[in-house]
Order: sequence, then C-alpha cells, then structure tokens
Amino acid sequence: MRTQEQQRAYQLAWVQKRRQAWLDEQGGSCIDCGSDEALEIDHADSTTKMMPIAQVWSLSPSNTKRIAELAKCVIRCHACHVKKTLVENEHPSGARHWKAKLTANQASDIRNSKEPTKVLAVRYGMHVSSINKVRRGASYRPV
Ligand SMILES: [Zn+2]
Repeated sequence: MRTQEQQRAYQLAWVQKRRQAWLDEQGGSCIDCGSDEALEIDHADSTTKMMPIAQVWSLSPSNTKRIAELAKCVIRCHACHVKKTLVENEHPSGARHWKAKLTANQASDIRNSKEPTKVLAVRYGMHVSSINKVRRGASYRPV
C-alpha cells in the first residue's frame, strides 16, 4: 500500500508526464520568444476558457473536452506570460489576444458579412462571443 505522500508524488509525476508530452507535441517552445525554459500553458483567449489547465491532465488524451480546451491554448515561457498578463491588465476592457489576430480588412469583412456568426468564428479561429464583439464595433488591434 502507498502512503499518502507517495500517492501525491505519484500523481504529480503523472500530471507532469502528460503535460510534458503535450508540450513536446506542440513543439515545446514559447510562441513569443522561442524559449524552451519555464514553459507555461496559456489560454490564448481567456474568455473561451472552460476549465483550468490543471484539470485537463486528469482527462484522457482522447477526451473531447481535453482536446477542445488544449486547442485554445498556446505555450509561453514564464517571462512572456507575465508580460502578456501585464498588458491585459493595463487595458482591462481591450487589447485581448483575439484582437491582435485580425487585420483591418478582416474586421471590416466580419462587420459587413451576412454569414452566421458561427461560420465566421470557425473561419477566423475565434470564439463566437469575440465575433459578436467585433460586429458590435468593439475595437481591435490591427496586425
Ligand atoms: Zn517567451
């Protein structure tokens, strides 16, 4: 029988193994600076977050919730993650990551499009609520 401490150590090692496997699969480097040290998993758009990343690792790799959640994430090193969080906090109502993904033309296409929001969300790789924000005229940061 395992002691509680052994059990905790076992679980931690298991989670780290799954996390590392995912990082390796994704290329294992920071999307901002390319560093492969102190990597963290970051929700590219925090508004689409359904569950904390820590919870994701308890799901099997083929679990659709896990796949969907990780699909929304990017890899950042600790330094770049902190930088990004600071920028977001400086602009609490704007400057979210999704805004950086649009060019001025794309934003105007979204605003002028008669297509369903869902179709546009898939095309631009954005959340439906983000498309709605653009349609309502919320600002975006041109690329
Ligand atoms: Zn970095």
